[in-house]
Amino acid sequence: MTTDEQPQRLVLMNPGPVVTDDRVRAALSGPDMCHRERDFATLMTRVRSKVTRISGGGADHTAVVLTGSGTSAVEAAIVSAVPAHGGLLVLDNGHYGHRLHEIATPYGIRSRRLEFGWGTPLGLGAVERALRDDQRLTHVGVVHHETSTGMLNDVAAVAALAHRHGREVVVDAVSSVGCEPLSLERDGIDWLAGSANKCLEGAPGLSFVCARRDAFVALATWPRRTHYLDLHRHFTAQEKAGAPAFTPAVPAFHAFDIALDLALAEGVEGRRARYAALAGRLREGLTRLGLRLLLPDGQRAVGLTAVRLPDEVGFEALHSALRAEGFVIYAAQEQLAQGFFRLSTMGQLTGDDIERFLATLARLLPRLTAAPSAGTTGAVR
Ligand SMILES: *Cc1c(COP(=O)(O)O)cnc(C)c1O
Repeated sequence: MTTDEQPQRLVLMNPGPVVTDDRVRAALSGPDMCHRERDFATLMTRVRSKVTRISGGGADHTAVVLTGSGTSAVEAAIVSAVPAHGGLLVLDNGHYGHRLHEIATPYGIRSRRLEFGWGTPLGLGAVERALRDDQRLTHVGVVHHETSTGMLNDVAAVAALAHRHGREVVVDAVSSVGCEPLSLERDGIDWLAGSANKCLEGAPGLSFVCARRDAFVALATWPRRTHYLDLHRHFTAQEKAGAPAFTPAVPAFHAFDIALDLALAEGVEGRRARYAALAGRLREGLTRLGLRLLLPDGQRAVGLTAVRLPDEVGFEALHSALRAEGFVIYAAQEQLAQGFFRLSTMGQLTGDDIERFLATLARLLPRLTAAPSAGTTGAVR
């Protein structure tokens, strides 16, 4: 696409990286820094402390910030937290649940996958039976917002159940931290993995793991399955030496610092309300256009809506028609890929963006249903 065709404001309705606040984007051009100097140590410590606060951590909690996408934090948590004799009970009701199992397996971590089906709420009875059956499953891996379907899982209930059975939980909160209520302290989350570029509205490139400080310390006696993603190494470097273990994405730290200020000022509840208002308008408008949504009301996270593709309209055609009008929509994955697409309401979207999106969709749909095969797309799956 040439520059004259490029619309002014690209409305990103993919679930991260999100449209960021101008102040966050401007912070990316912050000062060059050596990561082993005091100025970077101050920045890193400040970011770690804000990350802990937005994740509902108290005085006993801390965060380790990694340079890498959300998956690196999830992988670091699983690979570092499950001890040699232990194992992971994976609660799978979508793509990201399944991924927890795929992360554990190559490291030789014993992983038992409890499959509920995509878009099916987690069944606590089955979780309890699995924990009773196999005492060696020391950890439960669960996704908070299952971004493949938009389902919000009741992680607080899973954590309470796991704790009753003396187990720990590893939570993939990558697409929920900052906008859905989940708290390290209140919900007793043992390991929480998140990333900077979804509901925390920072730039891509950073992710983090939060836990109790003494849990990070205790990793010293665990087996080291990885060099680069070893949480104990990162914790020791960041907490004790005050410098990251490896070269960090310094510009992303500048941006995350500002994004976290904005997140803390808005508050998790405030951000949830803002996203919920956008998602409410979007869902109502889609329904008015005759489109059907995946999942019943009350099961959906505020950050994402999975929508059935209208009959005879392929994702590629819909994507390219909307892309030309300045909207990026997102494909569904695997078993939902053929019949569904996804719309995120994370980031700095406005009510006006949503109204324009709905008006554009209303204008395009009759044309697309009339000419079903049209269009190529820049999107890759
Ligand atoms: C986005 C996402 C991830 C991580 O994806 P990256 O591409 O590594 O950032 C992990 N889990 C969930 C639930 C996600 O939505």
